[in-house]
Amino acid sequence: MIDTKIKEKKGCTGCYACANICPDSVNCISMVEDEEGFWYPKVDYNRCIECGLCIDVCPVLNYRVVENALTAYACINKDEQVRLESSSGGLFSVLSEQVIEDGGVVFGAVFGEKFDVVHSYAETREEIGKFRGSKYVQSKIGDAYRQAKSILESGRKVLFTGTPCQIAGLKSFLRKSCDNLLCVDVICHGVPSPKVWKRYIEYREEKAKSLTQRISFRLKDEGWKRYSVSFLFKNDTEYRQNFNNDLYMRAFLRNACLRPSCYECKFKSLHPQSDMTLADFWGIQNIASEMDDDKGISLLFINSEVGKEMFNKIRNEIIYKEVDINEAVKYNSAAIKSAQYNPNRDNFMKGINDNIPFDILVRKYCTDKISIGIKRKIKTAICKVLKIEKV
Ligand SMILES: Cc1cc2nc3c(=O)[nH]c(=O)nc-3n(C[C@H](O)[C@H](O)[C@H](O)COP(=O)(O)OP(=O)(O)OC[C@H]3O[C@@H](n4cnc5c(N)ncnc54)[C@H](O)[C@@H]3O)c2cc1C
Repeated sequence: MIDTKIKEKKGCTGCYACANICPDSVNCISMVEDEEGFWYPKVDYNRCIECGLCIDVCPVLNYRVVENALTAYACINKDEQVRLESSSGGLFSVLSEQVIEDGGVVFGAVFGEKFDVVHSYAETREEIGKFRGSKYVQSKIGDAYRQAKSILESGRKVLFTGTPCQIAGLKSFLRKSCDNLLCVDVICHGVPSPKVWKRYIEYREEKAKSLTQRISFRLKDEGWKRYSVSFLFKNDTEYRQNFNNDLYMRAFLRNACLRPSCYECKFKSLHPQSDMTLADFWGIQNIASEMDDDKGISLLFINSEVGKEMFNKIRNEIIYKEVDINEAVKYNSAAIKSAQYNPNRDNFMKGINDNIPFDILVRKYCTDKISIGIKRKIKTAICKVLKIEKV
């Protein structure tokens, strides 16, 4: 069954499609955390009836190519407050408000009780706030695909948001297209380990000598491009640091703690399975500088007719400009390229397992040392200028 088909860890995105499809009467697939903190399916062969559904719905084993012609837009939510609370231009909130107004249900990633990240759903405008803002850690899908299916079958609209592999997992799980489903993914750098995230929260709480009250990955006080990570603690103290200096963001952005499948992501392409794709519009200053006020701009790809219809519905709520998709991707390579494997990744993850303090691990494995190759090139250039053999 599915666990025997996954030959290498990079062949599983942890999307939960297999666990969701396993019939209720059998329920033999559990998602088990490995030593790095990522979930993989484990089959209980005493209960398995070998129906093969788990293999049929795996989006990696049944990878499908989608034919679609994308259009791209720079977008800003006209609601200034919501935009400031969002990671980019606040487009997610506009889309979800529209779906709620249409009587629908919105699925997305929320912080759980201990700031773990899980998929959940909302049925009211007030509840949407819990999804707002990126949480840079793999979100646990749990039963979300099953819940979405039963809501879709009741005839209500569903907006499902997540990473490209989570959207591929949902589509595979549903096994048919649904007119009342809108899928929106985010351009994804890669997802860090929930175990590393847990260790970081513990590290911060130990420093603050207090439990956490609120976390934000993307505070825009110093601007959208120089965003900060913030922890507000129950003793009313705050930790706030620019993303470049925050230890967790350094490990994340230097690819030291991503899921193995992220280094060879199958779902990076300009042919996504979603109807719409959201991202930060990095490089906006070079493409539509008149929109760049450093408060956050969303890059939107419209990938299907359903996406186009939705865009027409929300046009009045946003400021937007159509842009050349290839130009936009030039400044956001995560749209099409997997994260580069960090040669120190396994040492970093082992250090997490061995309980080595977070700051020591990041300083040891996530610094920007100049690579030997670049050093060599600099030396050769100096030699040429000085017309000598060696420096
Ligand atoms: C792990 C991750 C990596 C990303 N990498 C990039 C990147 O490399 N380049 C880029 O341009 N953009 C990236 N993004 C997307 C970007 O950070 C914004 O989420 C996106 O632009 C939407 O912003 P917004 O202002 O419209 O709405 P916001 O309110 O900021 O976004 C909220 C949306 O993000 C979803 N979300 C939040 N956390 C998660 C999670 N852990 N897993 C799944 N969905 C989540 C919510 O469900 C909701 O749909 C990434 C997002 C995540 C979660």
